Amino acid sequence: MTARCDAVIVGGGAVGSALALDLLARGLDPLLLEARAPDYTPSTPEREIALSAGSVGYLQQLKVWPQVAQSGVGRIRHIRVMEARGSASVALDGDHDDLLGCVVEMGQLLRALHAALGARLIAPATLGDWRCDGDAVRLSYRMEGKEETVQTRLLVAADGSDSQLRRKAGIATWGWDHNRFGVVASVTTEAGHRDTAYECFRAQGPLALLPMADGRFSMVWAEAPRQVAEWMQCDATAFTEKLSAALNPAIRAQTGAITALSARALFPLELAIARSFHAPRFALVGNAAHTIHPVAGQGMNLGLRDAQALAQAVHDHRRFGDPGHPMVLAQYGDSRKGDVAMTAGFTEGLLTTFAAPGRLPRLARQIGMRGMGRGLRRLLIDYASGRAQARP
Ligand SMILES: Cc1cc2nc3c(=O)[nH]c(=O)nc-3n(C[C@H](O)[C@H](O)[C@H](O)COP(=O)(O)OP(=O)(O)OC[C@H]3O[C@@H](n4cnc5c(N)ncnc54)[C@H](O)[C@@H]3O)c2cc1C
Repeated sequence: MTARCDAVIVGGGAVGSALALDLLARGLDPLLLEARAPDYTPSTPEREIALSAGSVGYLQQLKVWPQVAQSGVGRIRHIRVMEARGSASVALDGDHDDLLGCVVEMGQLLRALHAALGARLIAPATLGDWRCDGDAVRLSYRMEGKEETVQTRLLVAADGSDSQLRRKAGIATWGWDHNRFGVVASVTTEAGHRDTAYECFRAQGPLALLPMADGRFSMVWAEAPRQVAEWMQCDATAFTEKLSAALNPAIRAQTGAITALSARALFPLELAIARSFHAPRFALVGNAAHTIHPVAGQGMNLGLRDAQALAQAVHDHRRFGDPGHPMVLAQYGDSRKGDVAMTAGFTEGLLTTFAAPGRLPRLARQIGMRGMGRGLRRLLIDYASGRAQARP
């Protein structure tokens, strides 16, 4: 027998899950298919995500923030941006002691979202064939050896950067491989973080430290593949020495010496933006729609804004009684283009500005950082806090 539902979302990462929950809260009947069996045990190293105040507000609206925050949240009150070797730096502090962002562990975030979805989450499920017949999308999936078929009005790809659905829908992407990997680890330092995130720009790639709930830092260090391969071979002591040497001495003076280091993990870094965010009865959200460099900590925030915008478009056109109506998809696509282009541009701009080698670009950066006008400082704070997209 073929089941029916308003929307099928494929990919139970945080973005697909938030969308399913938002649609459910607006009275729709969504189904979320996730390929992996749920496992919320923190990975080693922990996968920490900096969320803007806007994203935290969205999770509050979805009524899951108390569960997300239950086992602790890192608080970003200050951001320090500096070059690895230069003396110039930019200090960003929240207005009136406001938070610039929160750092949450991915498993914690997923556990809260999945718990709120209950039986709407089907996992582990293997997606079978799907096709769009004008008025509806028909698809099949397998769970526990049983084949199920579903008919829906809207199919959403939330299946991450390597989206199988995006490929099948024939939607190409533009962008480039950064030819860099992000090495991730959790780092303990003598003096802890005092609610401060550090961004240390190096010609080879940025090195970011995010404050975790337990006083440690979550590190992402971007480097060329050959160098990263060497780092992954060396022991913790040798890697700690390299990390310590790569940090600006002003950061080391604030954090104190590195006293412990977790296991290390690797992530490839690329820019890939879908040429369209929708097709008939089909929408892309999250990394399936756009994968950006993590330097500014914006990928998840952007994806959560996709979820919010798609659910809002469905709600705005509810008089059609059809969540996959062309007007819904057109509103969704139009509303996301600007934010995605601006955020990707901001991220790439940071990388390009700080990667240019030579004395003259360095001098220009130092003068720029020292004299950073109010406007630019405001822009950096707005991106960190998630207010940038609200600006014209
Ligand atoms: C090192 C690093 C640090 C980062 N730090 C930050 C940060 O601080 N702040 C920030 O905002 N962003 C950050 N990001 C970006 C952020 O992690 C991503 O943008 C975000 O996780 C994307 O979420 P998603 O739900 O779209 O995709 P994913 O998290 O990739 O989830 C996709 C889901 O789809 C499932 N799936 C795939 N194929 C199928 C299928 N065929 N059927 C069913 N299910 C399927 C997968 O199992 C997975 O659960 C960082 C990224 C990296 C690499």
